[in-house]
Amino acid sequence: LSSAGKRLIPFGDLAGPPPAVTDQAFVTLATDDVYCQGALVLGQSLRNHKTSRKLTVLITPEISSGMRSVLRSVFDEVIQVDVLDSADSVHLALMQRPELGVTFTKLRCWTLTQFSKCVFMDADTLVLCNVDELFDREEFSAAPDSGWPDCFNSGVFVFRPSLKTYNLLLQFAAEHGSFDGGDQGLLNSFFSNWATADIGKHLPFLYNLSSSAVYTYVPAFNHFGRDAKVVHFLGATKPWNYKYNLQTKRVMQDDTTSGSFHQLSFLALWWNIYSASILPLLEKLQKMEESE
Ligand code: UDP
Ligand code: MN
Repeated sequence: LSSAGKRLIPFGDLAGPPPAVTDQAFVTLATDDVYCQGALVLGQSLRNHKTSRKLTVLITPEISSGMRSVLRSVFDEVIQVDVLDSADSVHLALMQRPELGVTFTKLRCWTLTQFSKCVFMDADTLVLCNVDELFDREEFSAAPDSGWPDCFNSGVFVFRPSLKTYNLLLQFAAEHGSFDGGDQGLLNSFFSNWATADIGKHLPFLYNLSSSAVYTYVPAFNHFGRDAKVVHFLGATKPWNYKYNLQTKRVMQDDTTSGSFHQLSFLALWWNIYSASILPLLEKLQKMEESE
C-alpha cells in the first residue's frame, strides 16, 4: 500500500535536485588574484550545498589568465568589467574622494541584465547551507550591519539587475559620493528607506553573520548561532591571510584569533574548502604553466 501510495506522488523519489533556474544568479567580485581565492571558496561552498542558481564572478582586467581558467571551473560565468574608478563616468567625483576605491566596482553587478534577480555576495563570505530561498526576497534586501544596525551590510544583498538603476547609482555616486568611502555607504544612502520601510527586506543576521561580531554578544551566538547560514569574514584580515597547517588541518592562531573559538572554527571551514577543492585546481594550473 505504501509503495502504491508513493507512486501517486509525481516523480516522488526520483525527483533529484530541483531544476536549474537559469535567469537568477549568485554574483561575487574579485579585482585581484588574491580576492579570487575568496571568490573560489564562496563559489565552491555554493556548489557543495547544491544551489540551483547560476554562479557568476565579476573580475577586472588585472586577473591573471591562469586564475581565469580556475574561476571557470567553479563559476558558470566569469565576466570581465572595468574597475569603477578614474576611467569611468564617475571619474571626477572619485578623484575628489580617492579612498572610495575599488569596491565601487560592485555597482557593476546591476549591469547583469541577462538575469532577472541576483544575490550579491562578497568574496569573503561562505555559505554553510543552501540559501536559495534568498531569491524569494525583493530588491533591495540585506542584513543589518553589526556596527550600525540601521545600516545594512553590503556583503550580502538581493537585487534586480537594471541599467536604469545602474545609471542612477552612478549619478548618485557622482553627486553625493559615499559617506564611508566604499560601496556600503553609497548603497545605504541610495536605498535610504531600508531601515524603516519594509521588514521583508531585512535579511536575518544569520544570512550575513560577521565572524568578528560573534563575540560581541556571546549568549545570542550560543542561542542562535547554530542556524548561521552565511559567514562573512569582514575586516582587514581575511581567511587567506592566516596560516594553515595542511597536516593537522588547523588554522595557526595569532593574537587576534586567540580565544575566539567560533571564529577559528569558521576559519577552519574556509580552509577545509580551500585545501580540499581549490588548492588542487591551483596546483594543476601551476603544473601546466611549468610544463609550457
Ligand atoms: N574587493 C575586491 N578587491 C579589493 C577589495 C574588495 O575584489 O581589493 C571586493 C571583494 O568581493 C570583497 C568586496 O569587494 O569581498 C568588499 O570588500 P571587503 O570584503 O574587503 O570589505 P569588508 O567586508 O571587509 O568591509
Ligand atoms: Mn566583505
